[in-house]
Amino acid sequence: MTKHFSPTELESVGYRLLYRANEVNHCPGCGKMHWFVGRRTAECAFCGTALPLLNSMLPDLMDPA
Ligand SMILES: [Zn+2]
Repeated sequence: MTKHFSPTELESVGYRLLYRANEVNHCPGCGKMHWFVGRRTAECAFCGTALPLLNSMLPDLMDPA
């Protein structure tokens, strides 16, 4: 995961909340860290906030090597 965005790309991507499978994810709704992880989204076990999974939204960010 070492892709760098050009300024133009960065402007179109902006900041998104995403669930990152290999990191600790705090829920933006309640701050807890328990998730039901599906194929495309992860849902907070406490408040139901759903986040898209990083690799389902931005597959080109994942380095296949
Ligand atoms: Zn929550």
